[in-house]
Amino acid sequence: MSILFSPAQIGSLQLRNRLVMTPIHLGYSPKGEVNDQLIEFYRARARGGVGLIIVGGCGIDRIGNAFGMTQLDDDRFIPGLRRLVDAVHEEGAKIVPQLYQAGRYAHSALTGQPSVAPSPIASRLTGQTPEELTEGKIVEIIASFVSAAKRSQAAGFDGVEILASAGYLISQFLSPVTNQRTDRYGGDLEARMTFGLEVVEAVREAVGPDYPIIVRVAGNDFVPGSHTNTESRAFCQALEKAGVNAINVTGGWHETPVPQLTMNVPPGAYTYLASGIKQVVSIPVIACNRINTPDLAEEILQEGKADFIGMARPLLADPELPNKAMNGHSELIRQCIGCNQGCLDYVFRLKPTSCLVNAEAGREAELASSGPTKESQRILVIGAGPAGMEFARVATARGHQVTIWEENEQSGGQLKLAASPPGRQDFLNLGTYLANACLELGVTIEYNVKATPENVLTSVQEGKFTRVVIATGARPISPPIPIEAGVETLQAWDVLLGCGKIGKNVIVVGGGAVGVDTALLLAECGTLDNDTLRFLMLQHAETDKELYRLLTQGSKKITVLEMDKGIGRDIGPSTRWSMLADLKRYKVNCQDQTKVLEVRADGVLVENEGAQKIIPADTVILAVGSRSNNELYLALQGKIDSLSIIGDAAKPRKVLDAIHEAYAEAIRV
Ligand code: SF4
Repeated sequence: MSILFSPAQIGSLQLRNRLVMTPIHLGYSPKGEVNDQLIEFYRARARGGVGLIIVGGCGIDRIGNAFGMTQLDDDRFIPGLRRLVDAVHEEGAKIVPQLYQAGRYAHSALTGQPSVAPSPIASRLTGQTPEELTEGKIVEIIASFVSAAKRSQAAGFDGVEILASAGYLISQFLSPVTNQRTDRYGGDLEARMTFGLEVVEAVREAVGPDYPIIVRVAGNDFVPGSHTNTESRAFCQALEKAGVNAINVTGGWHETPVPQLTMNVPPGAYTYLASGIKQVVSIPVIACNRINTPDLAEEILQEGKADFIGMARPLLADPELPNKAMNGHSELIRQCIGCNQGCLDYVFRLKPTSCLVNAEAGREAELASSGPTKESQRILVIGAGPAGMEFARVATARGHQVTIWEENEQSGGQLKLAASPPGRQDFLNLGTYLANACLELGVTIEYNVKATPENVLTSVQEGKFTRVVIATGARPISPPIPIEAGVETLQAWDVLLGCGKIGKNVIVVGGGAVGVDTALLLAECGTLDNDTLRFLMLQHAETDKELYRLLTQGSKKITVLEMDKGIGRDIGPSTRWSMLADLKRYKVNCQDQTKVLEVRADGVLVENEGAQKIIPADTVILAVGSRSNNELYLALQGKIDSLSIIGDAAKPRKVLDAIHEAYAEAIRV
């Protein structure tokens, strides 16, 4: 019997199941208003079976908001908010807004005014120093929380969530790092909790005793000198006394040096934060952060570690996740892979949220009309990489008959490369999903079939196919660098796939994403494996310092050389910092602005700031980019009327762009 999909309650709020869509910044409301894009986005998630949706964040004022945020700071927004609430209710889910005030995380370039905070401590996120709040201004902000809650009630929302996590205003008051006040809002933990509790108490008084209030907390700030899970538990106990109905537990702040949401965070790794809080409160606790499958969610509930499961990105990736799980089709769930490329990276770039694996995310309203095709075609796709399979999946769903010819014995294309480095295995889940979805829909995938201009043309002439889509991917390039006779280099793609003999002293030429991935993969060689680490820790066999050394010092010396400024510039901002930190931990020697002049038997001749030197190496790996594998397309051009090219075969690009382009082509044909 599933606990996840059994009805449950938060205060007076009855929910059809225990799956909560936790807040995610969408950036869909450029003027703060609710619009069709936002409504259809959430309608799709409600239709998909989630129990509760928390919309967020929603700005309670203008001084503490972010770009494209839905606003709760004016009565004129109430009619639009009511439309959103009605849409979600029509689909059987409940909905609450998250009351958001960013404090020192607000950026003056967006708000048009300096940010405010308990104390004027510069923010690493914005690079700005906020103004210290006066007591009068604090009273005003509490009043804004209250007004926003009352507007939520007026719009028909089923409750509210107050944001007190991730380094936003309330957590800034809680933390000794950002709260250095000497008035009643600063000092010991009790004093630092004052602001958050006053917000909760004022909202409770305004909305009445039965209106559900959830508070989102950081189970641990993961910021040096700030709160750990001990202080967080104390705050949650105080929240319960103040009349809060549920606690939503997330991880650290945006400034934390500890990865929270990247692919290398093991699924469910932070559940202990929620379970720690659950031990000290009697109200429901929501666990979240990298809980990306219904099976894991169920396990957490079965073990009594939480009462509800929060998922945001998994529902961005697949709004139908709950229905698929309830109907016994978990293998068809399009899992969030933790790449952050379409969600967090877009937000950091002030772009509306999208999703690498789900090209429809945020476009539900616009794509509502792209239904079944009027004229079914017989389509041949060459290549079962991500672009080819995504095209096949969507085109087949629209009523076309699709066959894929794949020259290898497996599908997935370059996803295998992307999944090779440590902590990147989730990329394989995308390939598995696409293959499963194609199979379910009836796409024919023929493996070990080498497409040639002749056999493709013959198939078209014989009427087997009416359209051909080339998705043949890319191949790595070799730079025009002189290589001493007899010296062999390796391609990073081969190394990522486990081919090639690697020595002890390795140089990776090219410091983009592929070079960084390759360096990390090799740097891990010879370090402690999980089982040994666990054994040594359980036996207290080594000191923490020694374990750390064994974990981070492998058997190879790795150097990454990059011609331009900066390493890993093509990696998204939400992931790059943690990969650069890993390179540092593994003591990978990264040299940018370094030109490789020649590969020699004894190493690589480089030039940096006008000076030349030899860097010794026994293995040189090339990671300098790729080029389109488009020969087949060029050979067929002009010979087949309905011929197109997608993905890396058209132009090397990120997986997100390949998937989205394939999707666009599939709804066009
Ligand atoms: Fe998950 Fe990546 Fe999609 Fe974000 S873009 S929701 S991390 S799959």
